[in-house]
Amino acid sequence: MQEDSVYDPLVFGLGSYIYCSNCEVRIARVQYYIPNVQDLDYGGYFERVFNVVILDQPKFHQQEDGNTLTTLNIYCTQCDMQLGWRLMETTLPSKYFIRGRFFMRLDMLMYKSRVTLHDSLFGGANRQDHVQDAGANADQEA
Ligand SMILES: [Zn+2]
Repeated sequence: MQEDSVYDPLVFGLGSYIYCSNCEVRIARVQYYIPNVQDLDYGGYFERVFNVVILDQPKFHQQEDGNTLTTLNIYCTQCDMQLGWRLMETTLPSKYFIRGRFFMRLDMLMYKSRVTLHDSLFGGANRQDHVQDAGANADQEA
């Protein structure tokens, strides 16, 4: 699932970028990022991202309204941190949940000024309302 997920930043020329807050590799141009009030819950919506790996292993997110999102995890190619999700399917399509969109963790991305997208949008509030990883497995001792 990497047919259109990896872009060479040089192709797009010079401009303002959004970076991985962990390793500082470029992840997107600022104009690819569309701030939205729902971003606190689902991650910021991006039209395109680059320097990422998208694993072909679907995850399912059940929402309170009955909508189920099928997503693929997105990782930074340089530091392997999970940066977000790509939406593959949604049982209740809306203007926001459109197939193919990239939802990126606002606390994992930053502007050139090193201010994270999360702090830029929410003023540094100490909220931790991120989408939980539905695929986490806990080892249990018998
Ligand atoms: Zn990184």
